[in-house]
Amino acid sequence: PTELKAAPRVSPYTGVPGTKHERTFIAIKPDGVERGLISEVIARFEKKGYKLVAMKMMTATEARARDHYADLSSKPFFGGLVKYFASGPIVCMVWEGNDVILTGRKILGATNPNQAAPGTLRGDNCISTGRNLVHGSDGPDSAKHEIGMWFTQAEINDYARSIDEWVVS
Ligand code: ADP
Repeated sequence: PTELKAAPRVSPYTGVPGTKHERTFIAIKPDGVERGLISEVIARFEKKGYKLVAMKMMTATEARARDHYADLSSKPFFGGLVKYFASGPIVCMVWEGNDVILTGRKILGATNPNQAAPGTLRGDNCISTGRNLVHGSDGPDSAKHEIGMWFTQAEINDYARSIDEWVVS
């Protein structure tokens, strides 16, 4: 049998916001994993045209969860949030494409699922702010920070998809 050829690694590592290589960090939280919604989350981003460039399942320590949500450490719900986020496996991903940071947030929907529009992941699949399925970076600085916190550069895959000429131009 002929060997499958690896895709040419032509896409430069940039991740620069505002370009077609913009990248964001998306995590499926423990409730999303427990409830069997991993495929639902991936499908929304994949069908939209975004490219998955990194993915791993892991269970965050509470220390890691505290770091990830450090900006919220003064909030009354912080302790519960940390316990929730570290309570079981999460699926960490980096998605790439035009405007993926902001559009990714729209795909997730509002933080409070009861205010999230129908058609969004949170609007369609959950009812509690404390169990809202998914995380997504909220801007270029947090995307850069969170991708660096959850992934090494070696875990991020630069590759060209054959569909890119139909999706990206
Ligand atoms: P987002 O995840 O939409 O960026 P925030 O950064 O404001 O929202 O909050 C981070 C996470 O903290 C939320 O996704 C949610 O899991 C949790 N959270 C926010 N507000 C509350 C709240 N009032 N009660 C419980 N959990 C909350």
